[in-house]
Amino acid sequence: MPLVATRSIVEPAVRRRHGVGAFNVIQLEHAEAIVAGAERSGAPVILQISENAVRYHGALAPIGRAALAVARAATVPVALHLDHVTSPELVREGVELGVGSVMFDASALDYEANVRATAGVVAHCHAEGVWVEAELGEIGGKDGVHAAGARTDPGEAAAFVASTGVDALAVAVGSSHAMLTRDAVLDLDLVAGIAAAVPVPLVLHGSSGVADDNLAAAVRHGMTKINIATHLNKAFTAAVRTCLREDEHLVDTRRYLGAGRTAVTDEVARLLGVLRAS
Ligand SMILES: [Zn+2]
Repeated sequence: MPLVATRSIVEPAVRRRHGVGAFNVIQLEHAEAIVAGAERSGAPVILQISENAVRYHGALAPIGRAALAVARAATVPVALHLDHVTSPELVREGVELGVGSVMFDASALDYEANVRATAGVVAHCHAEGVWVEAELGEIGGKDGVHAAGARTDPGEAAAFVASTGVDALAVAVGSSHAMLTRDAVLDLDLVAGIAAAVPVPLVLHGSSGVADDNLAAAVRHGMTKINIATHLNKAFTAAVRTCLREDEHLVDTRRYLGAGRTAVTDEVARLLGVLRAS
C-alpha cells in the first residue's frame, strides 16, 4: 500500500473522527523516519514538503522525488503534500512531479484576493486530480510573526470554501507556528463551530505547540489533518546534539543523522497513536 492520493487518507479519517498526522520533510532522513514510524503504528501518513524546504534545497525535484520513492516503498498508505506554497508556479511543478495535494497559502492577502488566487489554483489542481488545502485567518508564528490570537470566523470559513472549491481548510484556532513549548491553548468550541459550518476537513497548523491531550481534544471536536514540523525537529536535533556531545571525534554523518532519524521514528509512531485514540 504505497503512494496514495491525500484524499484517500483524509476522507476515511473524517468519517471515523480520527486525526491524520502530516509531518514535514526537510532531509531524506525525515521521510524515512516518518514512514518507519507510520509503519510501526500501522497508520497512514502524509509527508509534506514546505515551500521553505524547497527553497533550502534550491529546487523541489531532488527532495520531492526522494520522498515519493520512500512513499512508494511503504507498507502503509503514504501521501505527498506541498505545504505553505505561495507560488502558483511551484504548485504546477508539484502537480507535474506527482504530489497528491497542495496547501496554497494566500492568507497574507485580503479576503477577496485570497479567494481569487485560491480559486485559480483549485481549478488547475482539480483538473489534474490534486487535492487543495487553503488557509483562512492567518496562523501566525512564521518569520517572527506571533499571532496566536488570530481566529477564523465560521461564517467566513463556509463562504470561503464555497467560493474557492477547496478540499480542506487550515484555520486559526489558537495555535501558532514554530512553537518550542507545547502550551498553546486551542479554542475547542471554535473548532466545533467551524467544523459544523464547513463541509470540508479542517487542518491544524502550528500543532507542535499543542500538547497531546489538547491535540486529541481538537480531533474529537472536528480537526482532521494535524500538521507537525517543529516538534519533530526538536526530537531530531536533540538526538544529534547528544550523539555529537558524547563523541567529539565522530565524523561519520550516518551516526548522528541516524540517531536523529530514530528519534523522529519513535515520536511519529507515538503521535499517530495519540491522534488515532482521540
Ligand atoms: Zn503551517
